[in-house]
Amino acid sequence: MTQYWIQPKTALVYDDELSQYQLSPEHPLRPIRLQHMHELMRASGLLSVENVFSPAPRTASKREIETSHDHDYVSIVEAISNGGIAPGMGEFGLGTSDNPIRSGIYETTALCVGSTLTASELVTSGKADVAFAPAGGVHHHAMPRRAAGFGIFNDAVIAMKAMVAAGLRVAYIDIDCHHGDGVQMGHYDSDQVLTISIHESGQWLFPGTGYVQEIGVGDGTGYSANIPLAPYTQDDQWHAAFDEVVPPLVRAFKPDVLFTQLGIDTHFQDPLTHLSLTTQGFNLAVKKLGTLAADIGKWVAVGGGGYDLSAVARSWTMALASMANFELPDDVPAEFTSLSNMTTFADMPPTPIEQRYLDEIQSHNTQTLNDIRSLIFPKFGI
Ligand SMILES: [Zn+2]
Repeated sequence: MTQYWIQPKTALVYDDELSQYQLSPEHPLRPIRLQHMHELMRASGLLSVENVFSPAPRTASKREIETSHDHDYVSIVEAISNGGIAPGMGEFGLGTSDNPIRSGIYETTALCVGSTLTASELVTSGKADVAFAPAGGVHHHAMPRRAAGFGIFNDAVIAMKAMVAAGLRVAYIDIDCHHGDGVQMGHYDSDQVLTISIHESGQWLFPGTGYVQEIGVGDGTGYSANIPLAPYTQDDQWHAAFDEVVPPLVRAFKPDVLFTQLGIDTHFQDPLTHLSLTTQGFNLAVKKLGTLAADIGKWVAVGGGGYDLSAVARSWTMALASMANFELPDDVPAEFTSLSNMTTFADMPPTPIEQRYLDEIQSHNTQTLNDIRSLIFPKFGI
């Protein structure tokens, strides 16, 4: 195992345009979260560090989107974008409370996908060692012909298909609280992409999938790994599961690129979910992913879910600092005034939970790990 890069060329692929749209007035996904994050990164001095640069995202072309989505679905999204209601949109998952319709939806989603493609291209071309596109990743539930769970066009699938077409093997690690079902589906029959998703079990949370038994099909058998965890899992237990599965599988797969989805809806204050991670627990995961990435030499990172504005701003600022190997101060800088009640990057530890609940969580998660050991590890000779 090598050490982390000393001064990795680190790209933050972001433009304020990515934080300007709103899906609907009451929608829990508030893209303004990215503007708060960006302000915090700036106030922390992170954007003026020598090895951090901020290239603008490009827009994804229709041809690129259609590598992973059916033409008639893409056309419906385009029609909605230009004029509101389109006949038959319901069968494509559009016009729901999760995926409301609005003008400009095609263009803003294509820019979001483009931000992930820009990050991928910077890394695969060697212009960056690590590139972070925080607007990406939130589309991880989008299916080839269906919008789902706030996702329209699956940027991660589109970007990784392009990498595979270029002859690269990719390990995809999804640490969002929800199962990365759309990304799993996009590569389910492929042995060129290893997908690992660690999430709150579908027994309790949308999308209701992501069980250990979903291991891939055909050539892809064994290349889809799921780590479903019990609600209220805290930092220590989450990391015990991560350590048991993620590093050994990634090292055995020997990818050319590490691609990580860094959803922060695992946070204990997140309003939609039930895992109980802190920002420091999240950042420790980013550091562990960074250690794996340094061995591989190429790291693409995208954002994901995250519905508590303070947790998003702090966690993704901490993530970019970890990527760039930059030491943040403990305290949130006084210049940052976009959000109130933020004093430190790290959280106070959450209230301890009763031993009997801890035992239940432990028992559920131990079963998950035992199942992964018997179903997936033998494929990799572990
Ligand atoms: Zn999520």
